[in-house]
Amino acid sequence: MGDNDSIKRICVFCGSKIGARSVYTDVAQQLGKAIASHGIGLVYGGGSIGLMGVIADAVLKEKGNVIGVIPHALASKEFAHPGLTELRMVSSMHERKAMMAELSDAFIAMPGGFGTFDEFFEILTWSQLGLHAKPIGLLNVEGYFDLLLAFINHVLEERFIQTEHSRLIITSRHPGELLSELIRCKPLQKLPQVIDWKET
Ligand code: AMP
Repeated sequence: MGDNDSIKRICVFCGSKIGARSVYTDVAQQLGKAIASHGIGLVYGGGSIGLMGVIADAVLKEKGNVIGVIPHALASKEFAHPGLTELRMVSSMHERKAMMAELSDAFIAMPGGFGTFDEFFEILTWSQLGLHAKPIGLLNVEGYFDLLLAFINHVLEERFIQTEHSRLIITSRHPGELLSELIRCKPLQKLPQVIDWKET
């Protein structure tokens, strides 16, 4: 426990569904176990459904700390998880993302839908804008994100993304490996700050 100084809490963005194949649940459980075994706390969207619930349960099972952050309006729809170490209720989706970002030292997106994409790209954009310099990982379970990564490469070739910004995404297919890479990550050089937090 507690074998790293760089990451105290990690935020995981993932689906409110479990997806079509059991591998997504298996990998969410593996990631939760790896997070707890490093003595890292989990920050996530606070729901008990889909991969969100799976990863929270996996961390709790290993006696790890889990903070959920959920908007009042979603608490009933996503069935706010009743067994978390801490559940923070917020008033909007934006406040949720801002609080998850503030509480966490690193981020991982794993398979999910539009909500997961929204959260992943917002945290990436905040890094690009110089608002934070925390590492961001993409857990590419069985190539789930291959098409997205190919598209990002296309965007790079078409020069709508700079190379240094595309390098902000750390990818791996394996949860333990991705987590170790994020832990090993030297503090990133903060990019020039373009806007203020108040302006997000
Ligand atoms: P999904 O990947 O669509 O299953 O959603 C994963 C999580 O993202 C769920 O907790 C959703 O409530 C959340 N979510 C969906 N849309 C948004 C949004 N616009 N901003 C922040 N979170 C969202």
